[in-house]
Amino acid sequence: MREGRIFNIQRFSTSDGPGIRTTVFLKGCPLNCAWCHNPEGLSSGFDLVINRDKCIDCGACVAVCPSGQRNACLLCGACVEACPSEARQIMGRAVRAEELMAEIREDRVFFDESGGGVTFSGGEPLSQPEFLVDMLRLCRQAGIHTALDTSGYAPWAVLEEAVKLLDLVLFDIKHLDDHCHETLTGVSNSLILSNLRRLTESATRVWLRMPVIPGCNDDEKNIRGTARLCRDLGIGEIYLLPYHATGTYKYGRLGIDNGLPEIKEPSDDQMNDLATVFCSLGIRAIIGG
Ligand code: SF4
Ligand code: SF4
Repeated sequence: MREGRIFNIQRFSTSDGPGIRTTVFLKGCPLNCAWCHNPEGLSSGFDLVINRDKCIDCGACVAVCPSGQRNACLLCGACVEACPSEARQIMGRAVRAEELMAEIREDRVFFDESGGGVTFSGGEPLSQPEFLVDMLRLCRQAGIHTALDTSGYAPWAVLEEAVKLLDLVLFDIKHLDDHCHETLTGVSNSLILSNLRRLTESATRVWLRMPVIPGCNDDEKNIRGTARLCRDLGIGEIYLLPYHATGTYKYGRLGIDNGLPEIKEPSDDQMNDLATVFCSLGIRAIIGG
């Protein structure tokens, strides 16, 4: 069994698939979405996180640092140990598949009672394909329901391998226009759309999800185009996930400048209007989830 890199395990989640779920967040993502609320999942390696609100300017971190510069951080952890106010943290940890499985098994009773299970999220879980497949195999052996929360951006062979062991795919669709998609996420949408089509042609259970990002992908042309795509693919419903600004503070702590103007959270009325457009084209739109 292989080792993977994760940055969070969220227990008792009710928004990452059916029932009560344990969501495991894997490190590394090939996209760089302008609105990402989990920027600690972007890099495949670990990250130094600094919470300036806790810092008391004692200088202990500077005194022990062998590198002397944040942008040349060696991730040695010396400053984390030295900091008296817990202002520093190394984000991410390596974990072996069996170890992670033992943590997941602790929540088994909640899965059984609620029809829940485990969701692998990130980052992009398909960016650690061998570890993901090991985990899916262990979950299947244990009879635990599995879901994959994915951008769909991975070679088809990788997705196909994972899908053989998955119960559900939560597939994000972000923008139908290729140029806009590349501007907003850093990658073309052609592989994503091709993978989505192939998934829907297979027996895989797919929940299509669209993060609604005001000013980025909520224009009528994109919404109507997405509804038509659902119809073409035989998908009868879509989950609309309203943007939340809750993750923006993380960029500063990670030392990342996402360079974007502030994005406003959509109002309930805006979300309902979008849902109405989908419904008018025969697609049931569920807000949240
Ligand atoms: S982890 Fe801290 S002490 Fe180590 S190199 Fe990075 S900044 Fe310096
Ligand atoms: S050791 Fe911690 S509290 Fe002291 S200056 Fe560094 S980050 Fe701030």
